[in-house]
Amino acid sequence: MTAIKLVQGDITRQSVEAVVNAANSSLLGGGGVDGAIHRRGGPAVLEDCRKLRASQYGKGLPTGRAVATTAGELDARWVIHTVGPVYSREEDRSALLASCYRESLRVADELGARTVAFPAVSAGIYGWPMDDAARIAVETVRATPTDVEEVTFVLFDESAYRAFAAQVPSEE
Ligand code: ADP
Repeated sequence: MTAIKLVQGDITRQSVEAVVNAANSSLLGGGGVDGAIHRRGGPAVLEDCRKLRASQYGKGLPTGRAVATTAGELDARWVIHTVGPVYSREEDRSALLASCYRESLRVADELGARTVAFPAVSAGIYGWPMDDAARIAVETVRATPTDVEEVTFVLFDESAYRAFAAQVPSEE
């Protein structure tokens, strides 16, 4: 069983083996979590991302997929970059959001990471309503078979923390 933990804070400050980045498909940096990870992780992270663009992902990392790089100056050993879907009222994209969590855990298993921190993927610049993002995140992690022992959801503000706490009763 994978333990689920909630923390309010900055994902770049977590002592875990792998930190998940809410990346964009270019893998070349952006705002929010992505900007923070590249700022604190330093140039090694961007360099690895550029290599991935030049090799496997010429057109960018597709939405719902995940790929690992070094974590540079972060405490973590790896950054797992995943591309969340942009929220849409017209189209149900929740399968893609669930895929981000599933694929990130699959990559974590490949790496042998036992502790992984996730942000609320898609719930910032990509506009996903936080309560629904929290439900999909927690349900998907619970339903995914993995060797990861502990998943920490790192929520930036109190309202995000509360949305996740509503899905993880022991944390309320
Ligand atoms: P997306 O583009 O997938 O929506 P964002 O990075 O814009 O991703 O936001 C995802 C969530 O992460 C938002 O709830 C945002 O407030 C939060 N966030 C932003 N910076 C950090 C950080 N340094 N640590 C943890 N969470 C963060």
